[in-house]
Amino acid sequence: MNVSMNVGADMDTGANRNTGANTAGTAAAPPAPPVPPEERPPGLLAPPGASGADPETAGFWEGVSRGQLKVQACATCGHLRFPPRPMCPWCRSFERTWEPVSGKGSIWSYVVPHPPLLPAYAVLAPYNVIVVSLVEDAAIRMVGNLVAGPGAEINSVDPAEIEIGQPVQVTFRDAGGVSMPAWMPSET
Ligand SMILES: [Zn+2]
Repeated sequence: MNVSMNVGADMDTGANRNTGANTAGTAAAPPAPPVPPEERPPGLLAPPGASGADPETAGFWEGVSRGQLKVQACATCGHLRFPPRPMCPWCRSFERTWEPVSGKGSIWSYVVPHPPLLPAYAVLAPYNVIVVSLVEDAAIRMVGNLVAGPGAEINSVDPAEIEIGQPVQVTFRDAGGVSMPAWMPSET
C-alpha cells in the first residue's frame, strides 16, 4: 500500500518523471513519425559528408584520409580516448587534440556474422568483425575487419584462423568510396 501511494504521489507532483512517463504515457502514445535523415543524431563515426556526420570525429577522418590512425587525446592530462567526445572522462577537461598511434594492436574479440545479413554483406559472407585493443592503451578498442593485406576484402581471411590475442596492424581499404581502417595479421 505504501509503495503504490508513493508512486502515485511522485506522478502527481512530477517528482519522478521517468516513472510517470513509463507507466502512464507509453500505452496511449501514438507511434513516433520517422525522423528525417538531416535531423537524426550525429553518427558516432560517420565519415565527413555522410548523413549525420559528427564534427567531433573530423580528426579521425583527417588522419584516415592520409593513411594515418589517430586517436583523440586530452590536452590537459594526456589520456587517450576513443570514440571521440568533447570532455575528458578522467579530468573533465574540454581541451583536446589528435594523436597519431602506431596502428598496432591485438584481437580482443571477434564475431563471424551469420545470415540474415544486409544484401551488400550477404555476398561476402562468411566474413569477420574484430575488436582490436591498441598497444598504446589496451582500454582503447576499435571495431573493424581482419583482412589478408592492404586493399583485401573483408572475407579474405578464413574465420577459423582468427585467434584472440593475435597481433594485428592497421591498414586502410576503400569501402564504397570512403577510406576505412581495417586490420591485417602482424608478427608483433
Ligand atoms: Zn584529461
